[in-house]
Amino acid sequence: MDLTTLTHTELSDRLEGLRKEHARLKERGLRLDLTRGKPSAEQLELSEPLLSLPGGGDHSAEDGTDCRNYGGLKGLAELRATFAGLLQVPVEQLVALGNSSLELMYESVVDAVLFGLPGAPGPWQREGRTAMLCPVPGYDRHFALCEKLGIDMIPVPMTESGPDMDEVERLVADERVKGIWCVPKYSNPTGATYAPETVRRLAAMETAAPDFRVFWDNAYAVHQLQGDREPVADILGLCAEYGNADRVFVFGSTSKITAAGSGVAFFGSSPANVTWLLGHLSKRTIGPDKINQLRHARFLPDAEAVHAHMERHAELLRPKFELVDAVLEKRLGDTGIASWTRPQGGYFVSLDVLDGCASRVVQLAKDAGVALTPAGATFPYGKDPRDRNIRIAPSYPRLEELGDALEGLALCAELAAVEKLLA
Ligand code: PLP
Repeated sequence: MDLTTLTHTELSDRLEGLRKEHARLKERGLRLDLTRGKPSAEQLELSEPLLSLPGGGDHSAEDGTDCRNYGGLKGLAELRATFAGLLQVPVEQLVALGNSSLELMYESVVDAVLFGLPGAPGPWQREGRTAMLCPVPGYDRHFALCEKLGIDMIPVPMTESGPDMDEVERLVADERVKGIWCVPKYSNPTGATYAPETVRRLAAMETAAPDFRVFWDNAYAVHQLQGDREPVADILGLCAEYGNADRVFVFGSTSKITAAGSGVAFFGSSPANVTWLLGHLSKRTIGPDKINQLRHARFLPDAEAVHAHMERHAELLRPKFELVDAVLEKRLGDTGIASWTRPQGGYFVSLDVLDGCASRVVQLAKDAGVALTPAGATFPYGKDPRDRNIRIAPSYPRLEELGDALEGLALCAELAAVEKLLA
């Protein structure tokens, strides 16, 4: 029933019923959590063999490097070869580093601020206020990073084919605008994958800042749940084709492939940018953890092995995403007060409730023992101007818990909406 068409009396009756249901939910004393965008224990189990690799006596990389020793800042060639195609970066331009791609994003922004980028007039810190474009809803840690480093954030609406490119092209005419955050595949949190034309426009557009960078965070490059394995368009190649070879920084990691926290992170870019980053990194470290890289190379010897492994993840994740859709459809499908995404891959579902209701939904859910990501977290400075977006992370809870948590969430979404409609 479309709640937005109900009369005041009908809404009041409904409110009473929903409040009773909410009170009963509270009495159950649940302790459920939909905030954790991390692999479940069963998913981590899939990579258990990693823990006994490479094994005693096995410490030589293909080129004879003794992985136990210092050196090899670029990372092991065989592991880079496996991920080069998956991340669409030529192997000689891809480096394999520590366990976190977020760390590499932080490193590259800090180096841009302190020292300046190839092709830059100087370090960002000398240019007064700088800004980054932030497609919204987006990944809260990108935003936290900018906030920490004093970089202004300019929200740009996400569409089903990526950021609103008319808006992006308009905004990059301002030389203060130094970059854009992009999660091109199964985006966090909407699940959208950038259309080929979006990628082409990002590569081709004219930017006022000569050192503008696309921060291409391909965290979910191989994380499909259903449908075809379709890579996004090759941004690095397109940038070179349009004469903007240095425009893009590609990031990726095995965090949600093997062990989140003990994986391997990658950085790929033009030769000039790779040299630039390694130059700065070489002052911080003599080389990455090559034993961990060797263990990953043994476990995932080629791209097909990665795809096969990801299919096993998908088998565990698919029922959870199906459950999200089924419960939301059952409870909210025809209410006119909510819409949500049905991603083909990645880790999240993005739920939009009635405008002005997200904070209330999160509070009501909390009162009933269901933890949700704070309203606004998917926007710069934690402020969702329409107060409507909630990020759902279904991967971690067990199916039964997930079902209970979603029923609770849907009830709270309906209750908040009816309160709002009556106000
Ligand atoms: N980028 C995105 C879009 C993510 O969603 C996440 C984790 O949720 C990360 C990066 C973190 O990656 P890493 O574990 O490699 O630091």
